[in-house]
Amino acid sequence: MKIVFVSAEVVPYSKTGGLGDVSSAIPKAMEKLGHKVIIFTPLYKSVDVKKHDIKLVKKDLLAPIGNESEVIFDLYETIHPDSTIPVYFIKNAYLYRKGIYVGEDGEDYPDSPIRFISFVKSIFTALELIEAPVDIFHVNDWHSGLLPFFLKTDYKEHELFKDAKSVFTIHNIGYQGVYGFETIKDANIPEIYLNDDLLGFHGVFNFMKAGIVYTDVLTTVSSKYAEEIQTKQFGYGLEKVIKTRKDDLYGIVHGIDLTEWNPKTDELIPKNYDSRSLKGKEECKNYLQDKLNLDVSDKPMIGIISRLATQKGLDLVSKKFKKIMDLGVQFVLLGTGDSKIEKNFKNREKKYSQDCSINIEFDNRLAHQIEAGADFFLMPSRYEPCGLNQLYSMLYGTVPIVRNTGGLSDTVQNYNEETGEGSGFVFDRINADDMFDAIERAVNLYKKDKAKFVKLQKNIMNKDFSWNNAAKQWQKVYLKAKIKKIKM
Ligand code: ADP
Repeated sequence: MKIVFVSAEVVPYSKTGGLGDVSSAIPKAMEKLGHKVIIFTPLYKSVDVKKHDIKLVKKDLLAPIGNESEVIFDLYETIHPDSTIPVYFIKNAYLYRKGIYVGEDGEDYPDSPIRFISFVKSIFTALELIEAPVDIFHVNDWHSGLLPFFLKTDYKEHELFKDAKSVFTIHNIGYQGVYGFETIKDANIPEIYLNDDLLGFHGVFNFMKAGIVYTDVLTTVSSKYAEEIQTKQFGYGLEKVIKTRKDDLYGIVHGIDLTEWNPKTDELIPKNYDSRSLKGKEECKNYLQDKLNLDVSDKPMIGIISRLATQKGLDLVSKKFKKIMDLGVQFVLLGTGDSKIEKNFKNREKKYSQDCSINIEFDNRLAHQIEAGADFFLMPSRYEPCGLNQLYSMLYGTVPIVRNTGGLSDTVQNYNEETGEGSGFVFDRINADDMFDAIERAVNLYKKDKAKFVKLQKNIMNKDFSWNNAAKQWQKVYLKAKIKKIKM
């Protein structure tokens, strides 16, 4: 199939979270299965054009926005690493600034509706230029949520796109792209669509709802999350809309891009290792302790790498911080986000300077080194659509401690000390006491029965994390979309 993959962030060019990682990995996995894939993403000013050999294809292209206006853009291109996949970049210096979603003042860009409407409209113009036929548009999260709508309206009769189908993936329903109708006025979307029955939701515009309603096939990133988003607790108001598409909804858990994340070959960690011997992992721990000015000791080390957002449940960690440190552990956090959460953790560092390191920055190298160096990885998420870090952790022999939700639930089974079965420490409720119990169980295993702990590490490292399985499921979903006829 000819697949056009559309995403607001794509590794190695841009990334704020897991979406960037999988927007690189899914296309590569599909190419390996023999499909022809191309990627579209905006050219932000933060993308290193030289380093990635990104070249101009054509300047001053025009994408029609509404009935009488157009947006101007330049088209750039490179080849995605370890593949033959062309990556096309939409450049418009005015619309695609340094940040992906957020300006230098830390606030969401208020003109994101027009930024992302222009982005998806420009893709159609670019595809006309390169005359690329399309079977499937795979669009991701609210940023490209309007593409299925334009495909079924403005481009319905278009020679290149009339048989193309769309797959819309919800990576996180907590971010829907909700804006007053007036903010999308420039897009000239016909008035008849601007109501709650079609693109609106509770009297305002909702990009994600548009994606859900107009896509041919809807997917999300774990089976559990596919169930959860149909409930009031997790649906963020869209649960009823999701239910109307439940026969077209599939949950597919991500794999790991083993060229980026793999303790056997990772060039960002001081010593490579595999499950046959964890000596190298010990060296990684000592290196990390030294680098972060912590005591070089055998204390169990708990790592966190995360966006600092309410979703991630770090307030639970904050509540129990003293009790956690009193267990005699080391604690390493890497994250950016909400300034209140940033300050809260930073303030705690002073008291435990030998055993606690709080790193408020985005640092991919340090992220790899924490995955390799820590003994445990903590994810107390309120909700977690898929989650990548628990997967990376298992592969790096870093035992996950997670809440039973979304992809964490699909991928981590609670450890049973009697049988030795399970892959981490799991707690059910969003509750600091329950989280603490799970941490205590984990630390006790480390301290009191090292042999069992090492066995657990080796077990989780040997699981199959490749994209092979997920890629086959994506292929099925694309086929379902390809043969789909939905009524408009
Ligand atoms: P989400 O997409 O909700 O942020 P995921 O667990 O799916 O969560 O993916 C997070 C990705 O972002 C992982 O690759 C993680 O290592 C990375 N990441 C998050 N915060 C940072 C940071 N401060 N520095 C480096 N990498 C980070």
